[in-house]
Amino acid sequence: MNTLTKYAFFTMDIESFYDTSCVRKRNPKRIGNNCYDGVENYLNILDKYNIKSTLFTVDSSLDDNVDTLKNAIENGHKVSLHGYLHDSILNIDNEEFEDKLVKAKNRFKDILNIDVEGFRAPMFKINNYKLNIIKKHFKYDSSALYNTNKLDELKSYKELNDNIYTDNLFYEIPPTSFKGSNIGGGAFMRLTPWVIMKHKIMKYLKNHNSYVFYIHPFELSKSKKPNIKIFNPLDIIYLKANFKSYPKKIEWLINYLKDNRFEFITIEDYIKKATA
Ligand SMILES: [Zn+2]
Repeated sequence: MNTLTKYAFFTMDIESFYDTSCVRKRNPKRIGNNCYDGVENYLNILDKYNIKSTLFTVDSSLDDNVDTLKNAIENGHKVSLHGYLHDSILNIDNEEFEDKLVKAKNRFKDILNIDVEGFRAPMFKINNYKLNIIKKHFKYDSSALYNTNKLDELKSYKELNDNIYTDNLFYEIPPTSFKGSNIGGGAFMRLTPWVIMKHKIMKYLKNHNSYVFYIHPFELSKSKKPNIKIFNPLDIIYLKANFKSYPKKIEWLINYLKDNRFEFITIEDYIKKATA
């Protein structure tokens, strides 16, 4: 594999609006809109540019998205696992975690007829114990946002490309952070003043050869979000601000990556290439 090639990875974490941390902690009745229409809206943007994505899906969101995911797989997108529930995996003992991980993986195999290759932890919460369990069942993990230097498991890995680590059997490919700040998408890209975010991304891409983007369905949903009573001002901003401009930001990012000769690839296809 040519290590000089620049790679861009687009990913989505498919979870219900009710699994957004600040909603979930209030435990509202799940009787309204999950905002899954954001998955189609995301894929429509990528289709314009013929970009294939990895869709990290929570097991509890699988049943509501089967048709969308089957179509996506047929169109060259990949589906990986984003937990069996959208809870921190750090709060669960290792045996139970492994058991549920395997069950979820088998369910994806049964329903979507795919071998799930990767895992991204809910809220990017990961530690060495859990990473070692993930390693037993998957080809890669995408959870170590900001964290790569704190995980012992990764210390012996080589950096194959910027922020892509491997021991030749297993890979760690988290969303992109630069000098301790998240420039890979999610609410950070949505809420940070765009001139600042743009500047950071451009500065990073000037001398780095890989970039990993992530987003959630509710951030691209055009349907009405459930009205949850929330009074914390930061949570209100998180749930209500800057949705309309997000598609334009994504298209700017795609065009900027294209202009700078990044190749768009799924994490799964990148690993296939790297191990060929
Ligand atoms: Zn998530």
